[in-house]
Amino acid sequence: MSLALLNSEELKARAKCLGFAACGLAKAEPVADSFAAHYRRWLELGYCADMDYLRRGVEMRLQPDLLVPGVRTIVSLAMNFMPERHQPAISLYAQGKDYHDVMRDRMRRLMDDMQLSGRCFVDTAPVLERYWAWRSGVGIITGRGGFISVPGYGPTVFLGELFVMEEADRYDGPLPKQEERLGISGERLEDTSSPNNPLTSHLSPLTPSFCPALTAEGLDARRCVSYQTIEHRGPLPHGLRLGATFYGCDRCLRANPQFAEAHPTDEPAFQPSEALLKMTPDDWQQLTVEQYRTLFKGSAVKRAKYEGLVRNIARWLKP
Ligand code: SF4
Repeated sequence: MSLALLNSEELKARAKCLGFAACGLAKAEPVADSFAAHYRRWLELGYCADMDYLRRGVEMRLQPDLLVPGVRTIVSLAMNFMPERHQPAISLYAQGKDYHDVMRDRMRRLMDDMQLSGRCFVDTAPVLERYWAWRSGVGIITGRGGFISVPGYGPTVFLGELFVMEEADRYDGPLPKQEERLGISGERLEDTSSPNNPLTSHLSPLTPSFCPALTAEGLDARRCVSYQTIEHRGPLPHGLRLGATFYGCDRCLRANPQFAEAHPTDEPAFQPSEALLKMTPDDWQQLTVEQYRTLFKGSAVKRAKYEGLVRNIARWLKP
């Protein structure tokens, strides 16, 4: 049975109504060869630290129909997470409710409303989300951290993808803005063997001393405060210095040139509670399990677990 063509304009209009900042469509083709080579090299260098899930399913990451057989279209979606106010000790993205839940619910609604068949992913499967966001014109790749920046919103966005069986009536391409900003042609963007191509060089630090985790060959998670304070179990590496935050790190996000475009979201789920806003360094020092459970109910911060947060707080208070 053949499926109806996906009406791309209708989909984008519906996505906007549901609160998405941007929506783009790309054909579900294999990831560009040289981008794939860059990803493999990044793994070989050990830059994924002990996030072994990044080593698994590499072929699926690079070939969408191995992940979802029969997929024809990848819909990339972005949602603004910039909170109106924030607790300074916690990374901006984790001030409110867990984005996995918020995004997934919204994406399922979009699929239902549009009667699409397929699957939706929010960091939950081997998907190169920044590649698809770039490929489908949702944003441009910018800054030292290789963020996707959505025009009008900057890099403070969550990304999610729909892998759908329907073919679309129209597909998007990378935003011309990328080419304009970087002064390069579309051809150069495709030629990812070029050392100056943003797809393969976007993680290079503009200033090497800015952060030791930002190397010429990509972000080395082993030296990244964000990875260490969220994903890593066990003691923090000797000498790792935390900045303003003990959960995550916003330094390269804030240093991103497009951060100037960030503005508060009106999404209530991404706003912090009053109790979280009121926490002071003294309060953090005395954080109890009960407080932790109440403060972070339904929050992505729970990923670090209570033990991880206490470990981080100790280092944060006494570097
Ligand atoms: S999140 Fe922080 S530690 Fe990690 S690369 Fe960015 S600035 Fe460096």
